[in-house]
Amino acid sequence: MSRKPVIAGNWKMYKTQAEVIGTIEELRALVEGYAEVEVVVCPTFTSLPAAANALRGSSIGLGAQNVHWEEEGAFTGEISTEMLLDVGCQYAIIGHSERRQHFSESDEMVSRKLQKLIQTPLTPILCVGETLEEREAERVEEVVLGQLERALAGLTVESVFRIIIAYEPVWAIGTGRTATPEVAEEVHSMIRGWLSETYSEDLAGGIRILYGGSVKPGNVAELMAQPDIDGALVGGASLDSQSFAQLVKY
Ligand code: PEP
Repeated sequence: MSRKPVIAGNWKMYKTQAEVIGTIEELRALVEGYAEVEVVVCPTFTSLPAAANALRGSSIGLGAQNVHWEEEGAFTGEISTEMLLDVGCQYAIIGHSERRQHFSESDEMVSRKLQKLIQTPLTPILCVGETLEEREAERVEEVVLGQLERALAGLTVESVFRIIIAYEPVWAIGTGRTATPEVAEEVHSMIRGWLSETYSEDLAGGIRILYGGSVKPGNVAELMAQPDIDGALVGGASLDSQSFAQLVKY
């Protein structure tokens, strides 16, 4: 089954509205109409309306970096799926390691977010990945599959089909230390194998699994050449439109 590659930029806590608009305008000029790849930008919440406006009529998708699982309520500082849809979002990143590390986001919270997202038209981008300590202790399989199992618990095959998975080894995020294509492929193929056993071969063959962790224009092609790597979730190298466009045109 052919899987359309996804290149998603996670702009983290960078860029004002004016900067987001500027980068999007440059990016549109560079990659618009490049239909081979699904391109997504994920600015901060405050820039989402401006980004949606700048993306009007564009094939580039818009994503949020986080979302809450409740419809509405007394949850100071949180944003609901309805609010994301209201400003024109199509994707939402959940379970990013920075959320897990700095904001104590647990697998249970990730699972709730997923349960909520799959009831909406938003496409979840679910992040999983091990720390350096866990890799050195040879716990990659247990950690990554454990995160997946707990996040996907209770979901139907049809719902899981709608998810994009991002394997992001924590030791490779923002460190300049990329997993070699072989190391990344090993985990991607393990995830796909697990999806096949747990759900179906069909699902495993159709679901997109992105790699994230210091992906740059210089290493994207060799990562994308791996059979089980279907795209990239990119932080640093997605902030600059030229570099982002090079990633899209790997
Ligand atoms: C990320 O934020 O998901 C990420 C992979 O960051 P970087 O590309 O900077 O390592």
